[in-house]
Amino acid sequence: MNNSLLPIISIVCPCYNEEEALHSFISKIRSILAQTKYTYELLFINDGSTDKTLFVLNELSQNDPQMRVINLSRNFGKEAAMTAGLDHAKGEVIIPIDADLQDPPELIIDFLREWEKGFDVVLAKRIDRSCDTLRKKLSANLFYKFHNAIADVDIPNNVGDFRLITRKVVKAIQLLPENQRFMKGIFSWVGFKSSTIEYVRQPRSAGKSSFNSWSLWNFALQGITSFSTSPLRIWLYLGVMVSGLSFCYGSFIILKTLILGVTLPGYASLLTVILFLGGIQLIGLGVMGEYLGRLYMESKRRPIYIIDTDNSSENKKAPPQ
Ligand code: UDP
Ligand code: MG
Repeated sequence: MNNSLLPIISIVCPCYNEEEALHSFISKIRSILAQTKYTYELLFINDGSTDKTLFVLNELSQNDPQMRVINLSRNFGKEAAMTAGLDHAKGEVIIPIDADLQDPPELIIDFLREWEKGFDVVLAKRIDRSCDTLRKKLSANLFYKFHNAIADVDIPNNVGDFRLITRKVVKAIQLLPENQRFMKGIFSWVGFKSSTIEYVRQPRSAGKSSFNSWSLWNFALQGITSFSTSPLRIWLYLGVMVSGLSFCYGSFIILKTLILGVTLPGYASLLTVILFLGGIQLIGLGVMGEYLGRLYMESKRRPIYIIDTDNSSENKKAPPQ
């Protein structure tokens, strides 16, 4: 394709059961993009929705050269859907955004201003999470603290996937071939010159969140195990510590027996030590299992997502506005 025909901005929007949110999202984002001087494309990834999302997207994109739809063959999860979007976006700058208007499209204007100043990454930081439940706020806070304490690369606190990245950054992200993708970590890992804008997160415009406590827990586990091996290393130190303590305790018992002779009591302390050590070993095994499982899945080298080309408009050309 002729380079001059490529759009400047690619909006990448993963959608899972968003039929109710799409109309207002698209009209809102269009009105914002119309205020910029740049050409754009709207790239939607239907992540195996079970409602009419694909139908709505296809209908809206039919006569719209600026809008493209990629239809995944099933639900692969937001991280995979976003990866599909980054792989197929054609713009000079790429902006991943949720379809539920929780990421305010108005911020795109500020993103572009920062990009014009020469930043490769512009982050949107939530300064107020009052629309989230207390449990979500607390668990998110704990996750960021724990992750950043043990991972090699910090992920910025309260920054989601909504951001601006340049093509250079996308190319760097594409060098990371991992199958289980924790995008927040991947975005941070690649680095580049970044600027941060603060905003207040809104409640969902329509529909409901696809993430419950269990999926968030699994997401957190994936985040931590993807970017740190510290949980594996802890067992070395814990093992050394427990062995040291056991040695001291053993020496004490031997000495006591030598001095005072054989005494039978000790059932309670014995049982406590056995149970404690048994528990610790099981936790250690569990952590190792977690990593082994991820290694196993990763070793299969399966594709991150599959596109159902019949219902995708991925090859449709996207001429400028
Ligand atoms: N999403 C997706 N695949 C999924 C789950 C979610 O593409 O399996 C999309 C969803 O349509 C939305 C974005 O990811 O555009 C964020 O999802 P959601 O609003 O449910 O997450 P929350 O804002 O509650 O963290
Ligand atoms: Mg949301």
